[in-house]
Amino acid sequence: MKNKRAVFLDRDGVLMEDTNYVGQLDRVGIISAAFTALKRLQQAGYKLLVVTNQSGVGRGFFTRQDVEVVHAHLDKLFDAHGVRIDRYYVCPHHPDDNCDCRKPKPKSLRDAAKEFDLDLSRCFMIGDRPSDINTGHNAGTQTILVLTGAGAETLAESKTKPDHVAKDMNAAADWILA
Ligand SMILES: [Mg+2]
Ligand SMILES: [Zn+2]
Repeated sequence: MKNKRAVFLDRDGVLMEDTNYVGQLDRVGIISAAFTALKRLQQAGYKLLVVTNQSGVGRGFFTRQDVEVVHAHLDKLFDAHGVRIDRYYVCPHHPDDNCDCRKPKPKSLRDAAKEFDLDLSRCFMIGDRPSDINTGHNAGTQTILVLTGAGAETLAESKTKPDHVAKDMNAAADWILA
């Protein structure tokens, strides 16, 4: 029975600052609202699943291994706050590859639904760009645009319609848990 719930999280601009960190882990900055927000969501029983497009791999700017190193580093930072990310779904492809896993395609969310027995209609996709919101729409989740990262710009362009707009991850958690 698919009855479990998850929060799907974009990475850059939502959990961590969207900066050029390659090879410099000390430049990886967590958006501070993410620590408490993820802890609250995890305590409420939500799986925490990161879904990230990392086309820098396909473009040759960095390697898949570099991405894994950043995720291990994020795990360490979150662990210090009692938060555990359940899974990272990474699309490493170039946009021209026309792969199945690049957002806004819903494949990663559907794979996660099978793996974690999720009811996608009770899940949330949180992101700062139209591709995140459209991924949620395509998978049948509820969608939240956060105004961190590129979120304010995305809202101003109004090319996508999220179910909710939240100032940051904590405000997103407030809405989910209300
Ligand atoms: Mg982003
Ligand atoms: Zn892909």
